[in-house]
Amino acid sequence: MSTDSPSPATPRPFQAEVSRLLHLMVHSVYTEKDVFLRELISNASDACDKLRYEAIARPELIGKDARLAIRIETDKEAGRLVIADNGIGMSEAELAENLGTIARSGTRAFLERLGKEGENSALIGQFGVGFYSAFMVADQIQVVSRKAGEDTAWLWASDGANGFTIEQAGESDAAKVARGTRITLHLKEDSRTFLDDYEIERIVKTYSDHILFPIELIGADGATRQLNSASALWQRSKSEVKQEDYTELYRSLSGQLDQPALTVHYKAEGRQSYAALLFVPTQRPFDLFDVERKGRVKLYVKRVFITEDAALLPGYLRFVRGVIDSEDVPLNISREMLQNNPAVAQIRRAVTAKVIGELETLADKEPEKFTPLWETFGQVLKEGIYEDFERRDQLLKLARFRSTAGDGWRSLGQYVADMREGQTEIYYLVGESLDRLRSSPQLEAAAERGVEVLLLADPVDAFWTTAMPKFEGKAMKSLSQGDVDLSAIPLKDAATPKTDPPKDVGDLISSLKAALGDEVDDVKVSQRLVSSPACLVATAHGPDRTLERLLQRQQRGINAKPVLEINPGHPLIAAIDRARLATDLIVVDDLAHLLLDQARIVEGELPSDPARFTERLNRYLVAGLKDQSTEGTPA
Ligand code: ADP
Ligand code: MG
Repeated sequence: MSTDSPSPATPRPFQAEVSRLLHLMVHSVYTEKDVFLRELISNASDACDKLRYEAIARPELIGKDARLAIRIETDKEAGRLVIADNGIGMSEAELAENLGTIARSGTRAFLERLGKEGENSALIGQFGVGFYSAFMVADQIQVVSRKAGEDTAWLWASDGANGFTIEQAGESDAAKVARGTRITLHLKEDSRTFLDDYEIERIVKTYSDHILFPIELIGADGATRQLNSASALWQRSKSEVKQEDYTELYRSLSGQLDQPALTVHYKAEGRQSYAALLFVPTQRPFDLFDVERKGRVKLYVKRVFITEDAALLPGYLRFVRGVIDSEDVPLNISREMLQNNPAVAQIRRAVTAKVIGELETLADKEPEKFTPLWETFGQVLKEGIYEDFERRDQLLKLARFRSTAGDGWRSLGQYVADMREGQTEIYYLVGESLDRLRSSPQLEAAAERGVEVLLLADPVDAFWTTAMPKFEGKAMKSLSQGDVDLSAIPLKDAATPKTDPPKDVGDLISSLKAALGDEVDDVKVSQRLVSSPACLVATAHGPDRTLERLLQRQQRGINAKPVLEINPGHPLIAAIDRARLATDLIVVDDLAHLLLDQARIVEGELPSDPARFTERLNRYLVAGLKDQSTEGTPA
């Protein structure tokens, strides 16, 4: 360790995102200032967790100073509040990195949302911009830190506006920090209430009671008092835990301000002994679809925090937050090896089964609670239908769908119970919006037979359906892919006159095919149309049309060509057939393209060549109007 007087600190700038964040925060878009204390305590607790974990392999890091704790000191006269821990500490480089940048991706997107009024409170916690929140209450912050196992203590200082400095800590500062981090806040005039013992106690009790390390307050009288209970909530039995305790832990784990929609708390004994406390949020976390932030269930081993990244639940349960505390996972296992550890694998299976089981119970017993949960997280749960073959049946049973049977949600169980006589398959239609699906021509024949069709409008629906799942032995069949035969199902209204059996349209189909060339895979007579002249479907072996569109947007499409299906009973088709016989090829070519483009438009696509489309359409409009005016005027 150098004993020379340290060189004067050069000021360093904050990363641009940090400056912007600090600006937003100091100009108080965020009103619940007392969360700063929760954030600093949570960092101190993380630091103690990290030290305890590192010390499994290197016990000398903890040495004699084995009682890990968080201490809060106040100096009312000077207006200073101190939060100190004897955890892992930070080196000079770590101070610059951790307290000068925001490492996480998505920062920019987050800041944009933060700029918008109203969403702020919920978001700050979720994004975990923790440390910087201290500048809401302080106009000067000093951080003295000594990393475990290192000799030098460093002093980081900032006013939150003009960057920060880092220099070697002076002797008196360094003496106060044998290991860990000591943060001194110079409170703004309007934030001096945070020096009040009762106020500090209230905040700690509200937000940080579950912290596993003792949080001590050095009171005005100099006596030390522990403010939190510092016991692992999940180790207590259910009957001892109050709803508020669950909520507080849930909020601190999730960073959200809502109530848990479902709490799963149990202890397992046997091959694997562990305690689990898991929560399903009520509100959707803002990063639910951010692939980088997958499972967030914390793994503890005998009360020692190990990692958040052990993938203790599959991706399709990534909205679950919580803690699993194992008695059997070896403590000294490296985080990298956890993935392959058989004890972890067993726990993962058991916990997954438990969570799904609890969702099933909720769906059965309290459907009024399950429905909103499904509305919030169903899209994610459906990923499991193709990812988790073993639980496919369970997840299909849990799933709720929109359908042509009404506006509510339907389960596959209900669907099958209400199937029409002669019906052997479960029909669905995938698309991009519910409204458009409801008016799809592909539904016509099913509607005529009173056959219910599931309407799948979530992006994930295009994917899981490719797994071609079955439910109770019934295949699921897309109405926009391959051939469909509903003829075994009687018409809903037996009195409906059967349309004339279509006369032979073989020649018409050949000329349409010739006109459209390789724009279509095939032209066929449709079994699914009643009132529309034509529609597009995917080939039996290709991707469904919605999937193809989604893939194309990611430049991963395979340019699958559609099948054009025509309805020979429709007057337009009959007219085209007459025109084909009476006139030249150009007319057939025009009409074939108009038909194809129409079918595209109904699906929400553009005609392949909008200018040509308009030009053709107008030509026939003018001709049609001319006919009318000649009909109307006596010659
Ligand atoms: P987060 O806790 O979400 O990572 P913060 O802004 O709260 O974000 O903290 C940034 C980083 O600074 C932490 O990840 C940690 O590495 C470091 N840090 C903050 N406080 C402490 C502390 N008391 N001891 C050790 N490291 C700390
Ligand atoms: Mg933090």
